[in-house]
Amino acid sequence: MSMGAPNMDVLVSLSKRRGFVFQSSEIYGGTGSCWDYGPLGVELKNNIKRVWWRDFVQQRADMVGIDASILMHATVWKASGHLDHFTDPMVDCRECKHRFRADHVDALPWVHYCPATKGNKFTIPAGEPCGHCGQRRTLCPNCGKGELTAPRQFNLMFKTFMGPVEEDAAVTYLRPETAQAMFVNFDNVLQSMRLKLPFGIAQAGRSFRNEITPGNFIFRTREFEQMEIEFFVNPNDRVDGRPADEYWHDRWIEDCMAWFRRYGLSAENLRLREHERDELAHYAKRTVDIEYRFPIGWSELMGIANRTDFDLKQHAKWSGKSLTYFDDERKEHVVPFVVEPAAGVDRALLAFMADAYREEEVRGEKRVVLKLHPELAPIKVAVLPLLKKREDIVRTAHAIRADLAKHWRVVYDDTAAIGRLYRRQDEVGTPYCVTVDVQTVGDRERGETGDLRVTIRDRDSMEQVRVPIAELGAVFRELLDGAPWSQVSGRYPAPVTKASGP
Ligand code: ATP
Repeated sequence: MSMGAPNMDVLVSLSKRRGFVFQSSEIYGGTGSCWDYGPLGVELKNNIKRVWWRDFVQQRADMVGIDASILMHATVWKASGHLDHFTDPMVDCRECKHRFRADHVDALPWVHYCPATKGNKFTIPAGEPCGHCGQRRTLCPNCGKGELTAPRQFNLMFKTFMGPVEEDAAVTYLRPETAQAMFVNFDNVLQSMRLKLPFGIAQAGRSFRNEITPGNFIFRTREFEQMEIEFFVNPNDRVDGRPADEYWHDRWIEDCMAWFRRYGLSAENLRLREHERDELAHYAKRTVDIEYRFPIGWSELMGIANRTDFDLKQHAKWSGKSLTYFDDERKEHVVPFVVEPAAGVDRALLAFMADAYREEEVRGEKRVVLKLHPELAPIKVAVLPLLKKREDIVRTAHAIRADLAKHWRVVYDDTAAIGRLYRRQDEVGTPYCVTVDVQTVGDRERGETGDLRVTIRDRDSMEQVRVPIAELGAVFRELLDGAPWSQVSGRYPAPVTKASGP
């Protein structure tokens, strides 16, 4: 029985308790909006990036990847428009000096000293009027006393200096998106790989934005990772009777949506949002966001923009280099249009965790389980000895772990009774447990030989089957390649007595 979606506090606490995400520099009181991925978090994050790269780069004939430097020539940001336009409107409270993004103020709960109740203090939900005096918010939502300044534009790029002298000529920026490296390297990639349009260049890596109001755990941070694709198309081509850029834009929206569904996000928690004309970025012809129903409400998970030929033209203009493609058929040089699917790794991780989280009741007890897709799960298999005092059981369990670990992340755990061990693995999303018991190794004192079989337990159904040790590798290859549990469980007997409850 499921007991509802988690709120953010539940995810933050699970993340800390089980080694997914820690607050950065916590022993010094933490750093604003920076988070560290722990032993399980780094596995989950790497798995997300790995399957994204496999599905969108490795498996496609029309995609290649790069890994560019974070520090780029300062002119890149002039040409791209980031120096002039990558700003958010910021307002300050004249009393408490708190700073807000002007367009976020109305989405915050607000503090109100109500004149109708002798100045009593209330915290009122975002966007609602006071239930006593009917007033709407005009003052600072944080202190309820100060007036807010008029909005001022604030550039989100982190500035730094390249080299030993802190002078204007040495100013450079930490990249606020990975995309520009794909445009700047367009000709290098085109020439070295001899590509034909349409083709895409992908990159996954860190980006930095000095966000005015970061927060909501790993949803909005100042240092984060992106997985971006710049997919170049010939604007003169038509596909299915439509301009190629429009066709490919829709294709990428569909493919990205299907990708998130495939790795576990439920359809009812995903939706598309078309950008209104007046909110489109200066370079965009059309932008569609994939939104996810995060614990904080519907918010952007990724954006898919048609950036036209804006970036290549700008870089050609500022660098003086030609960034065109020779169209063999029409015998002319063209500046490709670009469709950009841009996803955040951290937001994807938060969405996958939130969607996978379940609280179930099993025989009167609460079971917390992360039903992560096996490809994403940080640990694929946990090998558990039923009796840690039996040297032969422990030895066999270690040997099984070492063998399976040649292919997957597999752990050994003997620090609790078997029921507890199962619960711990459920909570971190481990799809399968292997239990080694007396039946496996036999009982020499009684003259009994073992059957050399172990119990495999499936996380989601909690069903168990007895599988020969010699077949474990093949069985896990099948299961972790995507075979349903029933396909495997049908071939093996259930244990006569279960190792312990479910
Ligand atoms: P938002 O409107 O939420 O600020 P954005 O539209 O500026 O995001 P893009 O520039 O389209 O974001 O970046 C692509 C993706 O990178 C986003 O969909 C998101 O997943 C991720 N991303 C952007 N900013 C952040 C951030 N500060 N923290 C974490 N992820 C981010």
